[in-house]
Amino acid sequence: MSYRAPTEDIRFVLNELADLDGVLALPGFEEVSGDLVDAVLDENARFVEQEIAPLNRTGDITPAKWADGVVTTSPGFKKAFNEFAQGGWQGLLHEQEWGGQGLPKLVGAPVSENMNAANLAFSLCPLLTDGVIEALTAVGTKEQQALYIPPMLQGRWTGTMNLTEPQAGSDLALVATKAVKQDDGTYRLSGQKIFITYGEHDLAENIVHLVLARTPDAPKGVKGISLFIVPKFLVNSDAGLGARNDVWCASLEHKLGIHGSPTAVLLYGSGKGDVGSGAIGYLVGEENRGLEYMFIMMNAARYAVGVQGIAISERALQHATAYANDRLQGQALEGSKGPVAIANHPDVQRMLLTMRSLTEGARAVAYVAAAACDKSRRDPDSGVRARNKAIYEYLVPIVKGFATESSVEIASLGVQIHGGMGYIEETGAAQYYRDARILPIYEGTTAIQANDFIGRKILRDGGAVARALSAEIRSTVAELEEAAAGEGPDTDGLALIARRLLAAVGAYDNACSFILKNAQEGLRAVFLGSVPFMMLAGVVNAGWQLARAALICSHRSKAGTGSSFYTRKFATSVFFAAHILPRAESLSHAVLEGSVTIRYMNAATES
Ligand SMILES: Cc1cc2nc3c(=O)[nH]c(=O)nc-3n(C[C@H](O)[C@H](O)[C@H](O)COP(=O)(O)OP(=O)(O)OC[C@H]3O[C@@H](n4cnc5c(N)ncnc54)[C@H](O)[C@@H]3O)c2cc1C
Repeated sequence: MSYRAPTEDIRFVLNELADLDGVLALPGFEEVSGDLVDAVLDENARFVEQEIAPLNRTGDITPAKWADGVVTTSPGFKKAFNEFAQGGWQGLLHEQEWGGQGLPKLVGAPVSENMNAANLAFSLCPLLTDGVIEALTAVGTKEQQALYIPPMLQGRWTGTMNLTEPQAGSDLALVATKAVKQDDGTYRLSGQKIFITYGEHDLAENIVHLVLARTPDAPKGVKGISLFIVPKFLVNSDAGLGARNDVWCASLEHKLGIHGSPTAVLLYGSGKGDVGSGAIGYLVGEENRGLEYMFIMMNAARYAVGVQGIAISERALQHATAYANDRLQGQALEGSKGPVAIANHPDVQRMLLTMRSLTEGARAVAYVAAAACDKSRRDPDSGVRARNKAIYEYLVPIVKGFATESSVEIASLGVQIHGGMGYIEETGAAQYYRDARILPIYEGTTAIQANDFIGRKILRDGGAVARALSAEIRSTVAELEEAAAGEGPDTDGLALIARRLLAAVGAYDNACSFILKNAQEGLRAVFLGSVPFMMLAGVVNAGWQLARAALICSHRSKAGTGSSFYTRKFATSVFFAAHILPRAESLSHAVLEGSVTIRYMNAATES
């Protein structure tokens, strides 16, 4: 089944939950009208549905190939990338100064979601290029920006992120790639990077690698890492391509999923190129501040990977919904003359609604985060900027951790709804499951997101952002209670959402207090509950956004301006409140029992 952009839900979230109007009113977005946003979304839907989605299966069954250091991407990818470049999609969010369109992140989020839902493996290349552009925009020199950003925006070159080495995965303090300064101010890099997404390919003329490496006298650990630009082909002063640099693709990995995305082992400094031994690199910013700079790219990329989670969830949901309405099996519980579509069975409805409500909840959280990011950069009031920055940074690990973990659950339910056919590759449901599985791993595993969430987003400000958001959630509960006390067909649904959301935010507040209280004496107990705590935050935030959606739907229905979309959305919110929000309490128990449980852990995990 092909992909249809979920434009109605996207528009609802943009307009009703994420304050698109407020974002478009920010300085710098004067020329971005609501009509322009609509036109971008419509054209994006057309492009991904017609050009990118049909290649999803092609990439899965015909992965990129390696031969003698040359990588050929899956059939059709090169043409599609060319059309992506011609359409100006890479420049959507970036500075107009370099030829970008300078649109808000809030508009970029649905565009990126649609691209990734259509074809996750293909869309990884633009995703990483976005990260490189963002990092250079923030910390590159004017010369570096002028040289490297425009060709990437035009889709003539692409970008990669080179962090991982065999001994340095989650722990980047162990990065060992060497960078030695030359008399002309450039550096020579040598070492091995692994798992580099689109580290080599035939989609573009040149590849701009951003590489973490260590100078000879650098301090040990993360404080001794520097960031370098290493282009595959050196760039002449006239911006034309020059010598082949000494960075080579030794092999591609064979993977569980995202087969269409080449994952490369890169060797720096094997002496095969036109430049002698050692890849020529250019320092970005100052020596030993590389990790700090890379975090700029990682935050953007972590957010983007969270959006990938929503994307694959939406694709799996669409596939499973179509199958469940088509597949005839079993009698209706009320009795029927022949087999009914499995979508009639309450348990299949439970699975479909679990998929839908988790997807739509995560989408709402992600778009609200994008709006906060836009406001943090452009609001004229410094207080508003600071508050939104804190909210965005608080939400990034939730978007990454919760949306990607949920995507695996959702894709797995998609397989389940297909029954035995889900386990057979031809239906496509299995591909979503395999593709989704990488999302909680790369760009920082779920545990690394949870460490970031607790360490930088809870402990550092003493829980200030968490508490402020809890207060807002409680205001929504009060609104729900008031609406539930009124008249209308939705009052029992509203009351249910109010009850469950209140219990969930209470569970979150208790878990948060435990973490703050035990941060000094009981760190191991705190971190035993770190992932449950972050997932708890995800459940509560998604439940909150869906509760806000339910209030809007209910007002619409009372005002007689409802539609089948609003009816479905309300039902989705009620389902989330009844079936997913109660997870908050169980997750909080895992956190709160940490002080006792931790004493038993070492004995239980020895090999
Ligand atoms: C398909 C694919 C594409 C990738 N693309 C890129 C890329 O483009 N560029 C790039 O640089 N890298 C890339 N990676 C690497 C990826 O980011 C790493 O695999 C990931 O960060 C995890 O590192 P690791 O594999 O070494 O696992 P490890 O760090 O060894 O982790 C193993 C397990 O231990 C846990 N763990 C480790 N440390 C901690 C801790 N401090 N607290 C709690 N738990 C911990 C982890 O959560 C995990 O469950 C890619 C990987 C894959 C598979």
